[in-house]
Amino acid sequence: MEVLESEKLSPFKKKYFEHAKKSSLYKNVLNTNGNIVFGRGSDNPRVVFIGEAPGQEENKQGRPFVGRSGKLLDKWIEEIGLEKKDFTVINVVPIIPLDNNSIRKPTDEEIKYFLPFTEKYLELLAPEVIVLMGRSAASIFDNSISLGEIKHWKTTKLFFIYHPSYYLRNGGRGFENTLIKLKDLLQDTSKQAGLKQFE
Ligand code: URA
Repeated sequence: MEVLESEKLSPFKKKYFEHAKKSSLYKNVLNTNGNIVFGRGSDNPRVVFIGEAPGQEENKQGRPFVGRSGKLLDKWIEEIGLEKKDFTVINVVPIIPLDNNSIRKPTDEEIKYFLPFTEKYLELLAPEVIVLMGRSAASIFDNSISLGEIKHWKTTKLFFIYHPSYYLRNGGRGFENTLIKLKDLLQDTSKQAGLKQFE
């Protein structure tokens, strides 16, 4: 069962949706009878997973990572051993990006439009670790972060893994070693001492 969103996030969610409705992407929600997609999970997580933007299924259901990528992400979460109360999943853009009804990557401009809200969201969730899944997510901090690398943002650790869709395009495999590193990071807080500082 999903951990319910508490009052802690509702005023923020309201502002986030108001901002989203003013974005150039909002027409996609109206044209598809879809949804603005907020995060899902705990409001007090140890780990926040950040993706890119909703796909067709997410747009339909109004929840992030509920399609094929989401199934793989759920498998990762289970393998790492996180419980419902331990994680939240969000996107850097909360509206499906479309060009003539085909999904495309969000532009840098679209990611930037939501950035103050993404940052506020992370500030409210205040996780120990932020898992950046793919380059769109990494771009909001430091695009030079490499696979399995750990960096620092304020008091939070950043970890980079490719987006689940990348692994799905490659037979649904190839993430195993990176996932072990993430599991180690979560289990071994002493690793903090060796972190590179994010500038
Ligand atoms: N891919 C993403 O980046 N986010 C989702 O919510 C679904 C697929």
